Amino acid sequence: MKTYNIAVIKGDGIGPEIVNEAIKVLNSVGVVENIKFNYKEYLLGGAAYDAVGDPCPDETIKGCLESDAVLFGSIGGYKWESLPKEKRPESGLLKLRKELGLFANIRPAIIFDELVNASTLKPEIIKGVDLVVVRELTGGIYFGEPRYKDKEKAYNTMIYTREEVERIAHVAFKEAMKRNKKVTSIDKANVLEVSEFWREIVEEIAKEYPEVELNHMYVDNAAMQLIRNPKQFDVILTGNIFGDILSDEASMIVGSIGLLPSASIGGRVGLFEPIHGSAPDIAGEQKANPIATILSAAMMLEYLNELNAAKRIKDAIKKVLALGYRTPDLAEFDAKEVVNTSKMGDLIAKYVKD
Ligand code: NAD
Repeated sequence: MKTYNIAVIKGDGIGPEIVNEAIKVLNSVGVVENIKFNYKEYLLGGAAYDAVGDPCPDETIKGCLESDAVLFGSIGGYKWESLPKEKRPESGLLKLRKELGLFANIRPAIIFDELVNASTLKPEIIKGVDLVVVRELTGGIYFGEPRYKDKEKAYNTMIYTREEVERIAHVAFKEAMKRNKKVTSIDKANVLEVSEFWREIVEEIAKEYPEVELNHMYVDNAAMQLIRNPKQFDVILTGNIFGDILSDEASMIVGSIGLLPSASIGGRVGLFEPIHGSAPDIAGEQKANPIATILSAAMMLEYLNELNAAKRIKDAIKKVLALGYRTPDLAEFDAKEVVNTSKMGDLIAKYVKD
């Protein structure tokens, strides 16, 4: 029997509800695939601030670094919005990502056939979309120095080093090798030197992956193409700010924010979390859709090379959706029965065994 030590961060808002369902499903798949998970819980965000006055305690960083993977729910909420910036839940998450060295964010946009009507795009445009955005997460304009603001002017610096571009490009090309072998690198090389530099280095790295087709696209065109014909994309490779915007756009074409997982990798340990926030408006009501978090757990299993277990989870989700079970966020899309968070977890945990 294989054993993995999983650091669990439930966080704030709906975090505990959705992570509990992911654990339920992991335990169920563990029984059939002979895998044991040892979970250890750590605090982050508002829950950590309330308990110890720090949104990212050292113990959490240490515990994550000592684990095989981190399963994370979400942080934040109205209660902590007036705190000084460094005490806010979001600062805790940024610090954790930095301390774990998570420079690559991977966000698949998966379309379930049963939910093509949930998209705002026409079913014929959306059916069959299978793309993943690989976003650089710890560099670029969000972190570049110098940065400045006074009453008369303000500026930020968009900066990338060779090493930063090389390592994220490798992540994207490796991802493409596991998929349809196509990388679209997105930049603004017609205007920005930093993008010209990005493009040159991506071209160099591409030579190491001769099987992968590489094309480049300006970010403004990419924003249009994602809506016009999302099926043309396999792996989208991009920097921090463009990736921030495009990954939200790519995820929204799917329909519900409650369906989409993500992985942040690159350091000693990967972190897996839904793309949505802590949804304080529905917290504690058992209305949240746990599928994004359960799919994040499946991505975690892929990262741990437990491919059969990951596939079982994805198949079980398809089955449950095909049977017409929906959480309230998807109630209007061909629901046969609307179920709460816990029941959705029970159903997926049941079907992973089939
Ligand atoms: P949000 O993603 O929490 O919620 C946006 C809307 O989507 C809400 O109406 C919410 O009810 C709904 N929603 C989100 N997840 C859902 C789910 N699983 N099932 C059903 N409905 C769901 O975004 P927000 O309201 O802008 O932010 C709320 C808090 O979350 C803020 O404090 C924000 O800073 C934080 N946040 C945290 C993360 C993170 O932990 N990684 C990410 C984004 C936002």
